[in-house]
Amino acid sequence: MQVATPTRPKETKPSTEKQAVRPQMDFNRITDEQFLIAAEEMKLESEIQLLLRTPYREMIVQIPVRLDDGRLEMFHGYRVQHNAVRGPYKGGIRYHYKVDLNEVRSLAALMTWKTAIVDVPFGGAKGGVSCDPSAMSRAELQALTRGFTRKIDMALGVYRDIPAPDVGTNAQVMAWIMDEYGKKNGYTPAIVTGKPLNLGGSLGRDAATGRGVSIIAREACQCFDIDIKRAKVAIQGFGNVGSWTGRLMARLGAKVVAVSDVNGGIFNEVGLDMERVVAHCQATGTVAGFKGAKSIDNEELLTLDVDILIPAALGGAITRDNAESIKARLIVEGANSPVTPRADEVLSRRGTTVVPDILANAGGVTVSYFEWVQNLQQFRWSADRVNEELERKMVAAWRAVYNRTIDQHTPLRISAYMEALDKVAEATRQRF
Ligand code: NAD
Repeated sequence: MQVATPTRPKETKPSTEKQAVRPQMDFNRITDEQFLIAAEEMKLESEIQLLLRTPYREMIVQIPVRLDDGRLEMFHGYRVQHNAVRGPYKGGIRYHYKVDLNEVRSLAALMTWKTAIVDVPFGGAKGGVSCDPSAMSRAELQALTRGFTRKIDMALGVYRDIPAPDVGTNAQVMAWIMDEYGKKNGYTPAIVTGKPLNLGGSLGRDAATGRGVSIIAREACQCFDIDIKRAKVAIQGFGNVGSWTGRLMARLGAKVVAVSDVNGGIFNEVGLDMERVVAHCQATGTVAGFKGAKSIDNEELLTLDVDILIPAALGGAITRDNAESIKARLIVEGANSPVTPRADEVLSRRGTTVVPDILANAGGVTVSYFEWVQNLQQFRWSADRVNEELERKMVAAWRAVYNRTIDQHTPLRISAYMEALDKVAEATRQRF
């Protein structure tokens, strides 16, 4: 399901969004700090640290686009290839007005650790274009996407670098990338993942990140003595990740009491009917205005009295300023970098468990790997096979990370980094 752009949510207000979720943040410093804590904890050699901290290649490109009103606008695009010792670069493309090199660099590194944790043979990359897709027409988005693809085309390849959707992009954007790449290189479905089914996409890819989040939440509940069938859940962000997580948490028996998007949130203490909320969102472009629920704002959602909080919007949602007010026992990071390091410290002192992004939201790249394999094999897997293999990968990743936490008394985030660094460092030593 694509609730997200480019289906124009009418009331997108960047200024509100800035206040609600996106204070100016140095995301690269955040992920670098997390890396260094884990690297020091495992006494990783300084040369290996240097190699793993430094991105392989960073591209900044300018994309001129003729807008529908005749004006020429210049967009700035980025692709950062962080590390490929374990396989081709892999990572999404984000369309958002706050995209910059620093954020893309941080997201690219997260991809390297994510692919290692779920043990798929990829490295890490990320891309993005600074734009507001909700304010652009289909023709403008298509021109932007084709222009961006032409500018980074020389660094892409089925065994080199494979993009996927992220915030503000979707299966349609992937179809345009595949088509543009194909003009020069011939029919190449494996050049992107998250494509429409009709063009070689995988069954189950759309739901994969949310499915992975819900599997990890289920496992965490078992380990931390939370009865998922009685658990109250709040989800910030209702795009691809948030909406699928909400549906699948409800199917596990949890009560999703609140969800939100950029336009605001909705709350009902007896639980929201997820399928009806999704239908409302598809019809109107937002969760706001859903009948049978009270309106709340995004800050209220974060501090609700729930068992599980799932930030699934953008980075920097939970900071030292609001961490003290969070009541959830368990936070499962659906988004990338929603909890800052200072917030992590506050939450740990207050006894809140945080399941990190590089574990919790790795289901998307896992099924992207299955999609790539299917494209190379020219053979389609059934939805059951995709979901079973995803379940196996996510449960194995959870156990590996959780066992480290038990053995080494490290927070789950540091255990997850250590699990990833072990694998990437070993491959580096073998190649170097
Ligand atoms: P999306 O564009 O489909 O949805 C984003 C959602 O966040 C929308 O509902 C939007 O309205 C909401 N949002 C934006 N600003 C907000 C705010 N200030 N307050 C509340 N909600 C706000 O994006 P997505 O693909 O669902 O990605 C969400 C997060 O998950 C991102 O951090 C992304 O990097 C991460 N992620 C996505 C995938 C994937 O497969 N799509 C995989 C791994 C991680």
